[in-house]
Amino acid sequence: MRIFFEDIRVSTRNRTEVVDVTADVEEVMRRSGIINGICVVHTLHSTTAIIVNEHEPGLRKDIVKKVQQDFPKGAGWLHDRVDDNADAHLASSYIGPTRIFPVRQGRLVRGPWQNIFLLELDGPRTRKIMVEIIGE
Ligand code: ZN
Repeated sequence: MRIFFEDIRVSTRNRTEVVDVTADVEEVMRRSGIINGICVVHTLHSTTAIIVNEHEPGLRKDIVKKVQQDFPKGAGWLHDRVDDNADAHLASSYIGPTRIFPVRQGRLVRGPWQNIFLLELDGPRTRKIMVEIIGE
């Protein structure tokens, strides 16, 4: 068994944003040389998440709208007394920082409408995503 890992850096441009990182993850996958195993995609931030879905501009806007509806900014959250971003921490907590994919025959296994996105929840910032591939 081998373990291969690399980090991806992403500069986001908006406070809430859906950034497609599929090509970056697949490039790490290719460099790994691992044929069969699993690929872990993980963000190191408490105000981001990793999501998987279709790369369609309307849907990406819908995701931003839904996050803002479900986790409204300035809704009396206690953490806002500290640094005014409780909504981002809450969304990250519920959506989650990690996704795992099967790796088969040297390819990341994902459906045709399953792209990988960094969900920025408190940008704009420079973010780091860890990609770790475990297999042989
Ligand atoms: Zn905070």
